[in-house]
Amino acid sequence: MPPGGGPRGSQFMTDEEKQQAPRVTKALLMRVFSYLKPYWKQLLLVLVCLVASSAFSILPSVLTGKIIDEGLIGRSLSKLIYFILLSLGVTLASNLIGVGQNYINTWIAQHITFDMRNNMFRHLQKMSQHFFTTNNQGDIITRMTSDIDGVERVVTGTFASILSNSITLVIAVIAMFQKNWLLALIGIAVTPLFVIPTRRAGKTRWMLTREAQECNDEINGILNETLSVSGQLLVKLFGKEEQEYTRYENVNRRMIKLHIRESMAGRWFFVVLSTVTSIGPMLLYLVGGILMMKYNSSLTVGDITVLVALLGRLYGPVNSLLNVQVDWIRSMALFTRIFDYLDLPVEIENAPNALVLTRATGQVTFKDVSFSYDKERPILQHVSFELKSGHSIAIVGPSGSGKSTIINLIPRLYDVDAGAVLFDGIDVRRLDLNFLRSHIGVVSQETYLFNGSIRDNLLYAKPDATEAEMIDACKRANIYDFIAAQETGLDTMVGNRGLKLSGGEKQRISIARVLLKDPALLIFDEATSALDSISESKIQEAIDPLIQERTSILIAHRLSTILAADEILVVQNGQIVERGQHSDLVKAGGVYTELYNTQFGKGAVTE
Ligand code: ATP
Repeated sequence: MPPGGGPRGSQFMTDEEKQQAPRVTKALLMRVFSYLKPYWKQLLLVLVCLVASSAFSILPSVLTGKIIDEGLIGRSLSKLIYFILLSLGVTLASNLIGVGQNYINTWIAQHITFDMRNNMFRHLQKMSQHFFTTNNQGDIITRMTSDIDGVERVVTGTFASILSNSITLVIAVIAMFQKNWLLALIGIAVTPLFVIPTRRAGKTRWMLTREAQECNDEINGILNETLSVSGQLLVKLFGKEEQEYTRYENVNRRMIKLHIRESMAGRWFFVVLSTVTSIGPMLLYLVGGILMMKYNSSLTVGDITVLVALLGRLYGPVNSLLNVQVDWIRSMALFTRIFDYLDLPVEIENAPNALVLTRATGQVTFKDVSFSYDKERPILQHVSFELKSGHSIAIVGPSGSGKSTIINLIPRLYDVDAGAVLFDGIDVRRLDLNFLRSHIGVVSQETYLFNGSIRDNLLYAKPDATEAEMIDACKRANIYDFIAAQETGLDTMVGNRGLKLSGGEKQRISIARVLLKDPALLIFDEATSALDSISESKIQEAIDPLIQERTSILIAHRLSTILAADEILVVQNGQIVERGQHSDLVKAGGVYTELYNTQFGKGAVTE
């Protein structure tokens, strides 16, 4: 079978791979082996199986000699039958051991990847928002899925192949030398001949496979762009169906051509390979024959047949071992990529002896807080304010001024660079994260609903909520009428990310979700995008009583929300530039007055 079937199986590395080839240090190896260590008993068993199955797989070649010399040429039917049965039995035993070894191998690989996947998931969940906003989502998912799947292939493939090929090779070489050292030497000397065409064909196939992969990426890109909800909308509205079809058809055509060429490259290679591989045996027959006929050697016909058979058994392992360096480096690169992620420091975690308070009132204090996302461009500078328990604050300011950043610091999505954020009088960094977050409810602009029913989404906040509690929360969030009008009520599916619902409905469901959570502090990031006035007033009706009854911070864009708050903070360029009551701020003629005149004053619901 021609080796080098694909990028993973090829003996060639891309330039990128060469550059990124990891330094295989002792520490790296120790770490890789630390994952194998818990399974050392099973590994030992695999080793025993490998030795046994390799030895057994070589035996039939040796027995062929006996079949010929003692059975056929010796004209002994009983010996012939005996060796034939023995040979069959040994083959069967070797295959059975192979099955067992494969099972244990897969079992180990699966358990190692199980451990790794869980480790990685737990670790990634501890990563801060900074990690998720900075890293590409696709990259994170690739490491969780294909990289870790790759580890499974390394254990069942690379590691097992190094072991089994080395063992087979050693046993076959020993057996050949035992038969006849001269013929053994000749056989081994011609072996490299077959490596040359293997590498050439491998290279061609590798290039074709890469091209096919690029083509495949392009096809996936087209499918993603054109068959997604928003993509289809764009295609339809701009009447681009034909153009997209042609684009798709062209790439598709390129793909089939590549596949055909790839398959043919394999065929030609096979022709060359089988011709070259037959040179070795022919040489053995020739030299063996000369030795027998001209030099009266004790060699028998059976011996020569055994040597030829053993030589045939060398090709596979030699080829695999010659390529193993690439596989090995790839495997190490895979482990390095995984370890890179596992080694990322946890930026936000519980302090030792983190505090859990008996109750929370939701009081928030910012003490001279400065913050920057990238530690270069300052986003918040010297922000100080106090939100007393039961009170509410409205934060207003131009887009990008730092309003959302202020609220992100309260549940410790990020940590301050200077100053402190206090929750109930205690620095949030000293509080237990679970405690802190369980007492903060956030209704954000970008409402995230899971793909499930409305009920599933509500229960996420409070898994033991009763039907009555859920209905009550929905009523208070002004969404119950909508739910009751649905055929399946609370069991209505919300669709992918809640796409089956309108923006206003989604936001009201997320208000109901927060109500079920019943937090001490409510943070409401009012939507800037235009909701129609009915949706807006429904949200307003839902949110107004909530603000009255609990400690809340509102990022407000509309006058009615602003007026409902006890204090207004005006943020500009990451600083609080004005604060106070609406009437005073309007009179002051500063940033607030400007915002009032240009933004929320116009859309005033009440004044
Ligand atoms: P809007 O009213 O438009 O929502 P905002 O006042 O809430 O704006 P923030 O979201 O706090 O503004 O953003 C403040 C600044 O920080 C912006 O300049 C933004 O580009 C930057 N910023 C926000 N999030 C990040 C992030 N995760 N990484 C880096 N910079 C960020």
